[in-house]
Amino acid sequence: MAKAKKRFRVTLNRAWCKDCGICVAFCPAKVFEAGERGEALVAREEDCTGCQSCVLRCPDLALEVEEATPSQAAEAVTHGG
Ligand code: SF4
Ligand code: SF4
Repeated sequence: MAKAKKRFRVTLNRAWCKDCGICVAFCPAKVFEAGERGEALVAREEDCTGCQSCVLRCPDLALEVEEATPSQAAEAVTHGG
């Protein structure tokens, strides 16, 4: 079986997020998407490269990106789509 590529967990703290859209605009992998009310959503976590740009740019410290453990990655595959 081919070795799985690195996966990352992208956590958006809804309580702190002000929906400024910076992460939506900045993520080079287009992981985020603006929802119907302009709210920031983690839409494509599986595309995250772990570059940490969003974490550094979020003015409200609402984002966290960490490498997923193999089991978390498997779970993400199961629930992804
Ligand atoms: S940059 Fe931070 S505050 Fe702005 S939309 Fe993204 S998560 Fe929310
Ligand atoms: S760490 Fe980089 S690739 Fe991952 S969501 Fe943040 S900006 Fe996008």
